[in-house]
Amino acid sequence: MIITVASGKGGVGKTTTSANLGVALSKIGKKTLIVDGDISMANLGLIFNLEKKKPSLHDVLSGECDVREAIYKHKTGAHILPTSLSIEGYKKSDLDLFPEVISDIADDYDYVIIDAPAGLNRDMAIHLAIADKVLVILTPELFSIADGIKIKQSSEMAGTSILGAVLNKTGRDFGEMGVDEIEMIVNEKVISTIPEDENIRNATLKRMTVIEYSPKSPSSKAYMELALKIVGSY
Ligand code: ADP
Ligand code: MG
Repeated sequence: MIITVASGKGGVGKTTTSANLGVALSKIGKKTLIVDGDISMANLGLIFNLEKKKPSLHDVLSGECDVREAIYKHKTGAHILPTSLSIEGYKKSDLDLFPEVISDIADDYDYVIIDAPAGLNRDMAIHLAIADKVLVILTPELFSIADGIKIKQSSEMAGTSILGAVLNKTGRDFGEMGVDEIEMIVNEKVISTIPEDENIRNATLKRMTVIEYSPKSPSSKAYMELALKIVGSY
């Protein structure tokens, strides 16, 4: 099953969620591939300490190597397809090859998690269309919610249904928007709430997922629950 992790706005937690959901699914025993689909801003590799690995998705999308050569087994058990940080790599990549690359390997895995770029451009349309389900990342802020509605509409246009919304970075502001209110505005179920948790930033500094860094932290528990919920439903 291919799950694209998407949002209209940047900085809401797509990369964090892709990495931690992917690791959580592997911990449950599911064969999982996490793909850095953000080929211009590649951040996923940083969390897994793989950003300098070659070949990367860039080399796959330029036709220089087979996708299996660019997949690395992480110590958590998850498989990672990273993208390099190089601008040359980005320039030589043809995202039109992405759907074929992903469908080529999807059958090897129980779950393929794609960390999508922000925005609603043509690249995003490709990421939405290739998915079986889209996981929309929101934060309890009006701009994020408004952009989430657009992602939902774009997914419908791409013919892909929404798995649900993940509400990230909750508990920061007194009087922030609540789950009920957000569900009503977006007309989508919030299937998981991930609290604002400093362990996430600390984990990133140590180049780890929060599940590895602090398995008992509130955000780790929330990501494990999200993974269990997904496994229970699909
Ligand atoms: P995106 O991929 O959507 O741009 P990121 O996953 O890179 O967003 O997250 C943006 C920043 O917010 C990162 O510095 C990340 O460590 C931090 N972050 C994400 N989720 C949380 C959270 N629940 N609590 C604290 N910090 C978070
Ligand atoms: Mg990102």
